[in-house]
Amino acid sequence: MNQAHNAPWPVVLTIAGFDPSGGAGVVADIKTFAAHHCYGVSAITALTVQNTLGVAAVYPVAPHILKESIESLFADGQVKALKIGMLGNAGAAEVVRDILDAHPGLPSVLDPVVRSSTEAELLDPAGLAFLREHLLSRVSVVTPNLAEAAALTELPVDNPESMKAAAHKLVERGARAVVVTGGHLDKAIDILFDGKDLETFAGDRIKPDNTHGTGCTFSSAVAANLALGRHLRESVVLAKAFVAEAIRNAFPAGPGRHPLHHFYRIAQIPRTSEHVPASEALP
Ligand code: PLP
Repeated sequence: MNQAHNAPWPVVLTIAGFDPSGGAGVVADIKTFAAHHCYGVSAITALTVQNTLGVAAVYPVAPHILKESIESLFADGQVKALKIGMLGNAGAAEVVRDILDAHPGLPSVLDPVVRSSTEAELLDPAGLAFLREHLLSRVSVVTPNLAEAAALTELPVDNPESMKAAAHKLVERGARAVVVTGGHLDKAIDILFDGKDLETFAGDRIKPDNTHGTGCTFSSAVAANLALGRHLRESVVLAKAFVAEAIRNAFPAGPGRHPLHHFYRIAQIPRTSEHVPASEALP
């Protein structure tokens, strides 16, 4: 085995909501980290009640519990990158601001979750205002989709030109780097702007109905690649490719939206040993 195989997996922390169906939120994040050879730890902002058909309820976790959870994980001293997902309200966003201030050099990815694809509110208006005012400028990169870019900039964002305008406006508002993801366009175009260079990455739109948890997965894949020491541009390119394959292999886990297959690479390994029939594997 080579050195890379034996190297310890970097620890990546996700601060996000819990989706019990495993398609989005911390479960999707940790699967994504593992698929990138990163060890995931998590602090939960809210419990949601949801299945493939949508979000039925949201129960926020008290900010002091969130704060204690995060501080306890940081006390282990191993966190190499941070992913921030659903926050729910300004109380959680305030906790995150303080954590970012306490760890200024840590690579951090903010997925500014506002609503689910089924239109459930996942961030209240005060939380959105706080995120815009205090979190945008504190993270390494923010990864809004079209609707989130529109909510953050108050501009219509529905084509490549308006995506570029939104990316510029977010940088004007203090963001260090922005990826506007266009998975809902006919051609899945993403725009990366770091305040200097603007790049467009094109991709095919794949199974548009099978998109539960794509935003969570993309931002987590970027965080994992940053934790592995990759530059932002490479992290974004690799994350886009990972999400495309995970969508292509999505599971029919229920009658609604299909969760992505975060372990599509493992799926290439045979499920049972060729030498021991499954029926004989247990005593
Ligand atoms: N539930 C949680 C906890 C989430 O974080 C998100 C999105 O970030 C969703 C649900 C919504 O996922 P989708 O946009 O795929 O509906």
